[in-house]
Amino acid sequence: MDPHAGVEQAAVIDLLSRAWGIRATDIQPLGGELDASLRVDAAHGQRFCLKGRRVDDAGDSVGLELATIGHVAAREAELVPSVRRTTEGATTVESGGRVYWLLDWIEGRRWVDLTRPTPVDRRVLGATAARLQRALRGFDHAAAERSHHWDLRRTHESIRLHLDQCRDGRQRVIADKALRLFEERVDPRIDDLPRSVVHQDLNDFNLIVRPNRALAVIDFGDVLASARVTELAVAAAYAMLRTPRPVDALVEVAGGWFDAPESSPVDGEVEVLFPLAFGRLVVNALTWAARADGQPEYSAARSSNTWATLDRLVDIPADVVAERIRRAAGRPSPGVVSLGGTVRATSVAAEVIDLDPRHEVFDGVEVTDSAALWAAGTPATPFVLDHDQVRIDWGSPADGAGGPATIQLGAELHLGPGVELSSPVRGTVVEVGRERVVIDHGSHWSVWGGATPAVAVGDVLQPGGSLFTTTELPTTVHLLGFAPAPDDQIPLRVTPTERSAWASVCADPVGFLGFTRETAQVPSDAVSVAAMRNDRLASSQRYYYDEPMHLVRATGVTFVDSNAHHYLDVINNVTHVGHGNPNVVAAATRQMQRLNTNSRFLYEEMGRYADRLVERLPDPLQVVFLVCTGSEANDLAIRIARQVTARSNVMVIEGAYHGNTGVVTGISPNRYRGPGGDGPPPTTHEVQQPNRYRGEFGPDHPAVGERYADDVARVVDRLVAADAPPAAFIAESLMGTAGQIVHPDGYLAHAFAHVRAAGGLCISDEVQVGFGRLGDGFWGFERSGVVPDIVTMGKPMANGHPVAAVVTTRAIADAFDQGMKYFNTFGGNPVSCATANAVLDEIDRLDLQHRSADVGEYFRRRLEQLMTTEERIGDVRGVGLYLGVEFVLDRTTKEPAKQLTTAVCERLREYGVVMYPNGDFGNCLKIKPPMVFGTADVDRFVDTLRTVLDELT
Ligand code: PMP
Repeated sequence: MDPHAGVEQAAVIDLLSRAWGIRATDIQPLGGELDASLRVDAAHGQRFCLKGRRVDDAGDSVGLELATIGHVAAREAELVPSVRRTTEGATTVESGGRVYWLLDWIEGRRWVDLTRPTPVDRRVLGATAARLQRALRGFDHAAAERSHHWDLRRTHESIRLHLDQCRDGRQRVIADKALRLFEERVDPRIDDLPRSVVHQDLNDFNLIVRPNRALAVIDFGDVLASARVTELAVAAAYAMLRTPRPVDALVEVAGGWFDAPESSPVDGEVEVLFPLAFGRLVVNALTWAARADGQPEYSAARSSNTWATLDRLVDIPADVVAERIRRAAGRPSPGVVSLGGTVRATSVAAEVIDLDPRHEVFDGVEVTDSAALWAAGTPATPFVLDHDQVRIDWGSPADGAGGPATIQLGAELHLGPGVELSSPVRGTVVEVGRERVVIDHGSHWSVWGGATPAVAVGDVLQPGGSLFTTTELPTTVHLLGFAPAPDDQIPLRVTPTERSAWASVCADPVGFLGFTRETAQVPSDAVSVAAMRNDRLASSQRYYYDEPMHLVRATGVTFVDSNAHHYLDVINNVTHVGHGNPNVVAAATRQMQRLNTNSRFLYEEMGRYADRLVERLPDPLQVVFLVCTGSEANDLAIRIARQVTARSNVMVIEGAYHGNTGVVTGISPNRYRGPGGDGPPPTTHEVQQPNRYRGEFGPDHPAVGERYADDVARVVDRLVAADAPPAAFIAESLMGTAGQIVHPDGYLAHAFAHVRAAGGLCISDEVQVGFGRLGDGFWGFERSGVVPDIVTMGKPMANGHPVAAVVTTRAIADAFDQGMKYFNTFGGNPVSCATANAVLDEIDRLDLQHRSADVGEYFRRRLEQLMTTEERIGDVRGVGLYLGVEFVLDRTTKEPAKQLTTAVCERLREYGVVMYPNGDFGNCLKIKPPMVFGTADVDRFVDTLRTVLDELT
C-alpha cells in the first residue's frame, strides 16, 4: 500500500506553517513501508524530514520512537536526527488522521548509494552500530516490549509466512537453510543473550554516510527490546549486499562492533550472528517480493541483490563463518578435529611439498609466470601438495576484496595415472558426482575429487576398501572435521582472510592418507615478523601503511607478499632496472664470491665505475667520491662546500628533504619543520619553493622561473649584507619529497647565478631523479641547462644495493684535500662497484632513459585524462617516470585532501598497487616506479586509481 495515500501537499504545507512556523518551498515524498515520509525544503536552505503515521497504526509507537531518538541524541547527538518541536513545544501534531513529527535532515548519502563501500567503511558501520547500542544501554520503554514482522527473534515465522514467494528451487534451498540455521542455532539460545532496546533496522536505506564518512542512523520505526546482537546482525546483513565476498563484509562489520571492549561478545552471540543475518536477508527478499504489488519500484530497490548475495552465502558452512567471527572478536576457537587413519590410502610413497613463495626454489623465477613457478617448485611425480598452504603459482594481483584465493585446502595428490586409492577408515558413500565422492565417516566426512570413482552411493567402505583410481589429473582430497552437511561446499582454495576459519574445520588429510611430511614447514607469518621488528627496532623507523606489507620476493615491477598476492610497484625508484634484475644479481653474486674489501686496496671495478660515471657527466664534473647513501653524499657535499669556501651558511628550498645525518637533517625543512622537528639551525636559510601550483607565481606568470629565483637573490643579498655569504645552495633538480615540484624554466639557472655571484657553490641533489629517470636527460639538472659545482646521487645506482656518490670538479676536490684522509669502509667496495656497473649496463641495454620518456609521457597523459573527470585532482605534474598527482578538496581553494590521499593509497594496496602519499601536505601521490614499467602497467595503475576514487566519493 502507498504509505503516502491521502497526504495532500497543500495540507502539509499548511501544517508545517501552522505547527512549526516553517514556510516550505518544496515537498518530496520519500520511500517508506508504513509511514508517510516527506523531504521538506524551506527558506534559507533549511531541510527537514516530516513523518506522518496513521493514528490507527500509531498507538504508543510514535512515543517509543521519539523517546528512543531523544535518549540517543542526549548521548551521541551526531548519530541521529534531532526532533524539531512545534512552536508550542510539542514533539508531535495530529492532523488529517495522522500523527506528524519533524526531524532535521541529515546531509549525506544512504549506505545503499555508496559506489563500493570499503573495509574501513564497514568497520565504521560496525562501530556505529555498537555506539548506538551503547547509547541505548539502560534505556527502557513500556512500548518496546513488542514484536513485528522484522523482529529477528521471529525470523522463522516471517520466512514461513512468505515461503510461497520462492521463485525457484534454489531460492527454496536458501530459505530452508535459513530456517534450519535459525531453528538449530538461534532458537535455543536467543532468549538467554544480553538484551537491549534496539533499532532493529540498520539496513542500507537507514544509514546515512555523512560527507566526512561518519554514519548517522535514521528511521526508528522498528525499535523494540530484543537480544542486543540483533542490532549487529541487521547491520551486517545489509552490508553483505553488493560485495563479492559477503562473509568478509560481515566479519568486517562485526570487527568494528567488537572493537569496543563493552561490545565484546558473550557465549552464544558469535554463534547466532550469521544465522540471524542470513535469515534477515531471506526475510528481506521474501517480504519485498510479497509486497511488490503495492510499490513495485520501492520493493525492487529494497530487495535488489539480496538473492544474489544469499546465493553466494548458502554453501558456506555456518561453522566456518562463526569461526571467522570468533577470531574477529578475539575469542578462543574450538580447535581442529583430528581424524584417525589406520590404513595407507595407497601403496605409492610420495614426497609432501608446498609452494610457499618463500622457498628458494623460486629464486630467479619471474613471479608472474605461474607455469615457470610450478616447474621450479614441483618434483617428478609422485608428490602430494600439502593442505592449508600458500601457493605461489596461484598468485595474482590483490583484488580489493581479500583475494586472490591462494591457500590450498585439502591435499592435492599427484600420483600419476592408475594408482588405486582406498579409504583409510570405515565410511558410507553418500554422494558420487563427476569426479567427486563424499564419504560419511560418522564423526566427519571426506570429499574426494579429481578421479573416476569406483563406488556408488550407499556403498559401505571398510578400511582399505577401494575408492577410486587416479587419472592424469591431480586428485584432490578434502576432509572435514564437522558433522556432515551435504549442501555445504568446500572450496579448493580460499583467501588468506578465510584461511584460518576453514583450516579450523578441515581436518589435515595428509597424515590421514598415510603420507608423512619431511619437515614441518611453519613459515613465519606477518604478525610474528612485525612483532620481532617492533620489539627490536626503533619505533621512529616507520612502515608504509597502517598494516605493513609482508613482502617476500619481487621481479620486474611486481612484488609478492607472504600470501602470494601480487602488487604493482609504482614507488620504488631504487630498483631502477627492475626488481631481481638477473644481470645485476649475477654481477653482484659473482663479485661477492670473488673478492670484497675496501677501497684502500687496488681493484678494477672502482676506477672503471668512476670513469663511466664521469663519462655521463658534463665537464668539469670529473672527480668522484663513492659513498653508501644519499644522506652521506649530501653530508659530504656540504662538508666540501664549507671547507672549500671557508663559510658555513647553506641555502635550501622550502619543503626540501636531503637525508638523515645530523648535518643534512639541518638542511631538510621537510624534517626540521615536520613532527618532532625544532626548526632550522642558524646556518640554514630557506628560499621560496618555486611551486607553480600553490606558490605566489602561477603557471601563466611570465618569467615565472626568474621570479622565484628573485627570492634566492634576496636571501643571498641578506647574507652578504650580514657579512655571512653562503657556502652553498643545495637543490634537487626536481623536488621529490616536497611533492614532485618541477622547477619552472629558468629557475635553477637564475638561482645558480645569484649564488655564484656571491661566491657560493651550487649542489644538485640527484638522489631521486638521476640516471635517466626524467627521460629527457640522464641528469635532472640538464633540463634546466645548468652545470652544478657538486652533484650528489644515490638511490638507483646499484638497484637497491647501497651505493651513492659525490662528483665535483678537479679544483674543488683538490681544494678539499688539505691533508685529512677521507676513508669510507664500504664506499666503493668491489661488490658495490660491480653491481653499479651492471646497473649502467642494464640502463643502456634496455634503453631505459628513452623508455622513461615514452612511458612517462603516456602516463602523464592518462593522468591528465583522469583529471578531466575527477574534480578532486588539483594538479598532475612531473617528467618521465617521476610524476605527481595532487588531491584537493576544492579546485578553487586548493585545500589539500590529505585524508583522501591516505585512503586512496590504502585502498590501492588492497587492489594490488603500491603507492604512498607525499608532498608538503601529504596530499600527493609519488609516482616513481622501476624504469622497466610499461604502458600496460600504466593502464593498470590509472584504471585502478579511477576505481578507488569512484569508491571513495
Ligand atoms: N636526497 C634526496 C632528494 C632524497 O629523496 C633522499 C632520500 N629520500 C636522500 C637525499 C637521502 O638518501 P638516503 O636515504 O639514501 O640516505
